[in-house]
Amino acid sequence: MGPLSVALWVLAALMCIVVVGFHVSGAVVWYNRRKTAAAERSLAKKGDGTSFQKEVAAIPGGEEVLKCIQCGTCVASCPNSAEMQYPPRRLIAMVRSGMRQEVLSSNAMSYCASCYLCTARCPRGVQVTDLMYVLKQLAFRYGFRHEPTGSPARYGRFVGQINSKGRVHELGLMIGYYLGTNPLSMLKMGFLGLKLMARGRSPLAGKAIRDKGQLAAILTKARALEAARTTEEVGA
Ligand code: SF4
Ligand code: SF4
Repeated sequence: MGPLSVALWVLAALMCIVVVGFHVSGAVVWYNRRKTAAAERSLAKKGDGTSFQKEVAAIPGGEEVLKCIQCGTCVASCPNSAEMQYPPRRLIAMVRSGMRQEVLSSNAMSYCASCYLCTARCPRGVQVTDLMYVLKQLAFRYGFRHEPTGSPARYGRFVGQINSKGRVHELGLMIGYYLGTNPLSMLKMGFLGLKLMARGRSPLAGKAIRDKGQLAAILTKARALEAARTTEEVGA
């Protein structure tokens, strides 16, 4: 086979990868939209907005939602507030008004860069960044997916790996992330991934911690404590 034939075969293979990747990416976007729509429908049926504030307050980091005086310092400090559907001050007001569906379906938490400026400057000591994490956690739990940032998908993969292995395997994390969001963009990072692997910086297989059973017991206990706290707070 001559060099021209080899080049044509390589070109054809690349085109196939791009076409397949394009269709898979479309399917992933469609799936994420369906999942978000299903989450919205399920929350609409739930229709219980009044307990939302208690639900947020029951999770560590969300307790201080009532301390906010709506001064707006956090919004003025936030480098990403212009990108957010609802900036932090408004998000807190919406949590207090029980607007569960609107808050959890918004993109605000996904655009939070965890810079902690809001937290450092809040005159009431509200841990706004932690609150963002709480809302992100709840949004993920209810099944919301925000395509523009891919942040929930990364978050889900990260937590999934910690749950199953006790530590993160970077290669598996990134492959899972791209497959769950936009497989085509994996092509852009492929070269970098190969370079890291060649230098031994990114092992093919991830290792689990030694005592996974102990970690599972800790996580089970933590979930039970959180569930009990939520029931107590929301039912109070
Ligand atoms: S800076 Fe603090 S008190 Fe002011 S709006 Fe933001 S969270 Fe509320
Ligand atoms: S931690 Fe998040 S919400 Fe707070 S200022 Fe930074 S980007 Fe904005």
